[in-house]
Amino acid sequence: MNGMPAGEKLDYRLLLDAAAAAARATGDQGHVADYIPALATVDPDAFGMAVATVDGELYGIGDWEQPFSVQSVSKLFTLALALAHGGDTVWRGVGREPSGNPFNSLVQLESEHGIPRNPFINAGALVVTDRLQTMTGDAAGAVREFLRRESGNPLLDTDPVVAASEAEHGHRNAALAHFIASHGNLENPVETVLDHYYAHCAVSASCRDLVLAGSFLARYGVRTDGTRLMSRSEAKRVNAVLLTCGTYDAAGEFAFRVGLPGKSGVGGGVLAILPGRAAVCAWGPRLDQAGNSVAAVTALDALTTLSGCSIF
Ligand code: GLN
Repeated sequence: MNGMPAGEKLDYRLLLDAAAAAARATGDQGHVADYIPALATVDPDAFGMAVATVDGELYGIGDWEQPFSVQSVSKLFTLALALAHGGDTVWRGVGREPSGNPFNSLVQLESEHGIPRNPFINAGALVVTDRLQTMTGDAAGAVREFLRRESGNPLLDTDPVVAASEAEHGHRNAALAHFIASHGNLENPVETVLDHYYAHCAVSASCRDLVLAGSFLARYGVRTDGTRLMSRSEAKRVNAVLLTCGTYDAAGEFAFRVGLPGKSGVGGGVLAILPGRAAVCAWGPRLDQAGNSVAAVTALDALTTLSGCSIF
């Protein structure tokens, strides 16, 4: 399958089998996130993967229909919705350069005067959540509604136990939010922004739900019902920021191995986009040092390597 020409149809069943085998071979490498205690209760050996094509085909393997905590994967949707509502105004308060620092780092924010490097580190996601709150009056509700509608899953929701656990152990996020506020870069009260941030991070969704919800990026901005969420060039920009910043300080390694725009979360999910073809999501709770799922990155690496299909 190597060197697959751009227009050729991929055999996703075969690719998912091979990707799942590669993921399982990672064994017990990595550690489940436990800095949010409620996340540590997950089965570390779970693995699922799904593909939703732009033509409406859906494929899955393993635990692909089992909900997990989406965590930072939600940041893809907060950014997309903020851009859809507010356009370029969003970029006044947040940059779009890779941070080269861990996702919850405080250091850069001080030297850069409260303007976070990009929308996918925690500091940047807090700013985007704040703007979405101003635009919609209910940032977490807007994300939840979008995910429900695109996935066709009305049961998709925030897990209140995870949200409460995040809030209880959220000293770093609270510090980031207060610091940003001290620079005048939050429009809403810190407590409101943190509540909505925790609520969208604590959404439970499956690989199935996430590929359907993310497939607007594979369709260059067009939603599942055929309406447009954002312009083609905005979709290009979101994909570009996903490629350069979506997997934190391991974005270079992710581009090297997988070669796709993608967003990871400490719940172990990674949602990646094959522009013009499909959205792909893999999930395995064990994380590497940067906070990316060992099994999910390995599975995506196998999928693009075997198919010869990436953005490069
Ligand atoms: N809610 C998590 C946090 O704020 C999200 C982090 C992540 O998935 N990288 O720490």
